[in-house]
Amino acid sequence: MENQVTKPNQTLVSPGFTCWLTGLSGAGKSTIATELSKALNNLSVSCEVLDGDVIRKHLSSDLGFSPKDRETNVLRVGYLCSLLNKHNINTIVALISPFNATRDKLRQSLGKFIEIYVDCPLEECIKRDPKGLYQRAISGEITEFTGISSPYETPVSPDIVLKTYEEDVNQSVEKILKYLHHLKLIDIN
Ligand code: ADP
Repeated sequence: MENQVTKPNQTLVSPGFTCWLTGLSGAGKSTIATELSKALNNLSVSCEVLDGDVIRKHLSSDLGFSPKDRETNVLRVGYLCSLLNKHNINTIVALISPFNATRDKLRQSLGKFIEIYVDCPLEECIKRDPKGLYQRAISGEITEFTGISSPYETPVSPDIVLKTYEEDVNQSVEKILKYLHHLKLIDIN
């Protein structure tokens, strides 16, 4: 009889996927993550949204915004995704995640990692300023703010680029769904 016990040295690929939205503050990550999760739920695909602000409050309130702390924050969320993905819960992450090297680590550690660059020029993000943070960063009230006083490294070869200054949220969500379908991770027919 076939031995059904998993051998210890067998590498298992987690069944769940992670859509990781990276980009400047105000680029549209949270907005798209929320709409994407609704679209996936409509397709009966389970997912959990991990949003930067919520993560900072509940999981990383001990961390600041130095490059090292930012990396720790991103890797913590990556670890959480790996746990959820292992149990077939897909994850959607909305987190600035400013560094290429850290995002590369995620790609290596997560089985089905989809890097989505939410692309919006800094000037447009400053104009949007949905939480009034840019104003406070420009005045110097907030330090180490991405795009103003802390770097953002544009992704080198993201799986998807969403140009939120020229496409609307629905178009962005459609793009992601099509890509997931193309990878056979969801069925949109
Ligand atoms: P982030 O999570 O990247 O900081 P948010 O989603 O919180 O950004 O805020 C983005 C703001 O930009 C929202 O007020 C949203 O309504 C607006 N916005 C305008 N156009 C778009 C678009 N095409 N995609 C996403 N957000 C957009």
